[in-house]
Amino acid sequence: MVVEGLTRRFGGRNVVHDVSLNVAPGQVTCLLGPSGCGKSTTLRLVAGVDRQDRGRILLDGTVLSDDSIHLPPEARHIGLMFQDFALFPHLSVIDNVAFGLSGAKAAKRKRAEEMLEKVHLAGFGSAYPHELSGGEQQRVALARAIAPRPRVMLMDEPFSGLDNRLRDGIRDETLDILKAENTAVLLVTHEPDEAMRMADEIALMREGEIVQRGAPYNVYNAPVDRRAAAFFSDIN
Ligand code: ATP
Ligand code: MG
Repeated sequence: MVVEGLTRRFGGRNVVHDVSLNVAPGQVTCLLGPSGCGKSTTLRLVAGVDRQDRGRILLDGTVLSDDSIHLPPEARHIGLMFQDFALFPHLSVIDNVAFGLSGAKAAKRKRAEEMLEKVHLAGFGSAYPHELSGGEQQRVALARAIAPRPRVMLMDEPFSGLDNRLRDGIRDETLDILKAENTAVLLVTHEPDEAMRMADEIALMREGEIVQRGAPYNVYNAPVDRRAAAFFSDIN
């Protein structure tokens, strides 16, 4: 997926300014930066739930959004995972996973069962979300997000609600699954540590702009300026 020169203004202020990104299939690009720098706004533009004032978004050479075209989120082949993963409380686990699928009922069920197996929740189909732990719910959310085989997965701090012990396992599991499906991943985080663990490429964002990009250890070892160095210094 290619993002070119995205700009979004709110109240006369550039909240996102001239942001360009390139996310390859099977790769994780991390949009990393402090609170308020415009990460979630960027993700919403890519998802199509908001529209940029300038710039364009392409997937395999097809325009998803530019000055004249704006495909709605459901036409973009993009999956979403957010911190408040919001499973539907009134639907069983299997129905949650099948929710975004189209086609015959039996085929949808089969795909949903495959996805539950992938996230190690094969026996949980008839349970309801409130009967699951936070980590299990997060895995259902992952199963639901990948079930329609999105080309791109957008993740906004998806692991920040989990305790440390659970987080590492679910991060690894999520990455394994997305890599196996050859999905392009754009992951938003304000934690350098998470970006270092998960990214193939880090795009460091500040006040609406990308100030540095590169492989995690290059960005960490050769920060573009003092502020970037300070931002990475809380890494543990
Ligand atoms: P965090 O790490 O805290 O989630 P973020 O990098 O995701 O931060 P955004 O949510 O993208 O930050 O917000 C960037 C800036 O844009 C903030 O100052 C926010 O108040 C502002 N903003 C976002 N959405 C709107 C909106 N709809 N109207 C006005 N201002 C907005
Ligand atoms: Mg945010």
